[in-house]
Amino acid sequence: MRLAPPAAAQAGIRRLRYLKQGKIGLTQASVQERQKLQESAPGLVDPLGFLLANEKGSGQLREKWLVRAGLSFYDLVALQWSHRYYSPQEVWMLAPRLNVQDLAGAFHYFDAQTDDARLVLRVIREAVDAGGTAVNYMAAVDLIREEGHVVGVTLQDRETNRKKGVRANIVINATGAWADDLREKVDQEPRLRPLRGSHLIFPQWRFPIAQAVSFNHPLDGRFVFIFPWDGVTLVGTTDVDHSEDLSHEPHITPGEVAYLMAAVESRYPSLALTLDDVMATFAGVRPVINTGKLDPSAESRDHVVWTENGLLTVTGGKLTTFRLIALDALEAAGKMLPDMPKIDEDAPALDEVTEDLQVKLPEATRRRLIGRYGREAADLVQAAEPGELENLPNSNVLWAELRWAARSEGVVHLDDLLLRRVRLGLLLPEGGAQFAAQIQEICQDELGWADGRWAEEWAAYQKRWQEKYSLPPKEDVPDWHSMLQKPDTTPVTVEKSGAGRTAVAGSLLGTALALLLFYLGLRKRR
Ligand SMILES: Cc1cc2nc3c(=O)[nH]c(=O)nc-3n(C[C@H](O)[C@H](O)[C@H](O)COP(=O)(O)OP(=O)(O)OC[C@H]3O[C@@H](n4cnc5c(N)ncnc54)[C@H](O)[C@@H]3O)c2cc1C
Repeated sequence: MRLAPPAAAQAGIRRLRYLKQGKIGLTQASVQERQKLQESAPGLVDPLGFLLANEKGSGQLREKWLVRAGLSFYDLVALQWSHRYYSPQEVWMLAPRLNVQDLAGAFHYFDAQTDDARLVLRVIREAVDAGGTAVNYMAAVDLIREEGHVVGVTLQDRETNRKKGVRANIVINATGAWADDLREKVDQEPRLRPLRGSHLIFPQWRFPIAQAVSFNHPLDGRFVFIFPWDGVTLVGTTDVDHSEDLSHEPHITPGEVAYLMAAVESRYPSLALTLDDVMATFAGVRPVINTGKLDPSAESRDHVVWTENGLLTVTGGKLTTFRLIALDALEAAGKMLPDMPKIDEDAPALDEVTEDLQVKLPEATRRRLIGRYGREAADLVQAAEPGELENLPNSNVLWAELRWAARSEGVVHLDDLLLRRVRLGLLLPEGGAQFAAQIQEICQDELGWADGRWAEEWAAYQKRWQEKYSLPPKEDVPDWHSMLQKPDTTPVTVEKSGAGRTAVAGSLLGTALALLLFYLGLRKRR
């Protein structure tokens, strides 16, 4: 979640990789969770078509069968049959400008996509509606221990630096890639391997793409993807050890820029994209458990729940499976709190929204607002001033979303608003600077800021955008054309032996057939 936007798209590719690693249970769980999220939050979690390249060369057929088995399993777990294999000519029709010369074909299938920050915000706001308390810019800086057991936490307000001790029946450490910081307070060795994932953003007019495209990177064979998101085109991701201080926001490095530009160049050479076409960048740090793998991408993405001296840590895993991860954490909490009420394991991740918006809006806008704001969508529409239910030019964002976020979504600084509420910092050039005056007019009073404060915040936002969301100095970016000429990097992916993969394919095929019979039986009974 405070994840690199947008999640879930990558998850599809990863799920196929889980299958390659024989993790059928994890794949099944995340496909079912994806389905649940799509059903409960249309407009926030939506289907996305994927083209998965099947490249010519040794192993092409085995790869084709492995992926076919995987997608069959995938679709049947989702009780659908949406994948198909296309010839290079058909792929070219589906994805003009894609270089299909070295393709034997490509699979098309459906996965899903979301706006991670909006999904997290909806979960938080519905948790508060249900009686929870959420505080922003409040860090747990220490633990309160009695006889070595954790009985509370010391909180520090990041705005005032004031500290306060808070006692609790249980302290759950769900701090993602930062989880080792609090674990250290209970004398635990670090067990996380923060992995950075970086992305490039292009305007859609310059890099038009109708569905997600995924292929093996020409330099190291890792899966990379290009996909449409909220009016822009996104290229990602990298998977590199992040040894920088986690208290500093991560940002893309020159080497990662060249790596992603090489991927783009290898599949879309006719677009002749340059660094001048990159509109924005972003990076995030994955909470990954360190199992000592040579290749960061071979590290498992499973989540863990650890109870250590009374501190319950839940970390790792994926956004898509957050509901299951939360259930595992609550199960462990139940063992520490015998009087804890029974958890309804089938409770949906998001509340059903029955209210309508009382205002006639285009269907896409209505879906967007209800998906992203849930029950508050009606309040957002009510709060809109005349003309604010229109989109900002070249964007899907409505002016009214700015007013609502400034009024009621816990905005402390402008980057909260423009990067993690409405994503203008990623969707428009220069972080949305061309609309500075209109944004000020709508948001300054809502935030209760004086002119001086607004000017300070805007300057701080522009500085953060330049440092963390734009390209590093272009002269520092290695020449990716020459990298493609002589790919001297030996692929580092730690592959399973041929025999292992065929066994996985065999069991997948078996499972898929079993599910096919089940599915056909189900259809006959309907
Ligand atoms: C580049 C990238 C791409 C990804 N792509 C996908 C994808 O496509 N699909 C998918 O399903 N998942 C994806 N993920 C994984 C997903 O983002 C994570 O699994 C998910 O965000 C983990 O959620 P979390 O709540 O455990 O941790 P986080 O989202 O990291 O949240 C931890 C929170 O704890 C806060 N925190 C840290 N220390 C403290 C402290 N001391 N006190 C108080 N608060 C603290 C942090 O500020 C942060 O807000 C991706 C992750 C990255 C980085």
